[in-house]
Amino acid sequence: MKTSRIHQLIERLGLLARSESRRIGSEMALQPVHVQALQYLERCNRYSNTPAALVGYLGQTKGTVSQSLKLLAREGYLEKRTDPEDARVVRLHLTPKAHQALRQLPPTETWMHAERTLSPSERKALTAGLESLLKALQAAHGGRTFGICSTCRHFQNGVGEEHRCGLTGEVLTDDDSRRICQEHEERRSA
Ligand code: SF4
Repeated sequence: MKTSRIHQLIERLGLLARSESRRIGSEMALQPVHVQALQYLERCNRYSNTPAALVGYLGQTKGTVSQSLKLLAREGYLEKRTDPEDARVVRLHLTPKAHQALRQLPPTETWMHAERTLSPSERKALTAGLESLLKALQAAHGGRTFGICSTCRHFQNGVGEEHRCGLTGEVLTDDDSRRICQEHEERRSA
């Protein structure tokens, strides 16, 4: 039997994380996929808040995501608005109710406490290792990376709070630079 200790550990951690999501989400009548959709929309940038981007991020079918979005809109967690610059595009916006719910969702204090039992150097090494593994798997599956903006090859670091996206030419704030983006591309190594 093939075994990988890393795979076993990640699977176990994933089960624990999902069980936290399920427990807290069920108190709000939300399933894990609804919680994941809300968490994605809280973290993504203005280029990535569309149903299609959410399908790519969650790796679910269009139909499943569409049903989830209908429920979240019906329950007052999000609003669908037409993009003012392109009427063909629908943008998903979280409501105050969603932001309030997200404050109670994982990572819970239990999870954060467990993370704090690691030393800063252990956390840094673990983060770097998991990021490398995620990138390798995304590359193997040909998927988008949904990486953090400031690590993108199109990101142009500016002075003060203003930066620029080399792909769209638009100004990015510090807050934008910390968000995830469906257009993110890894920097090419020299
Ligand atoms: S710099 Fe990259 S990640 Fe940031 S907004 Fe532009 S394409 Fe997206």
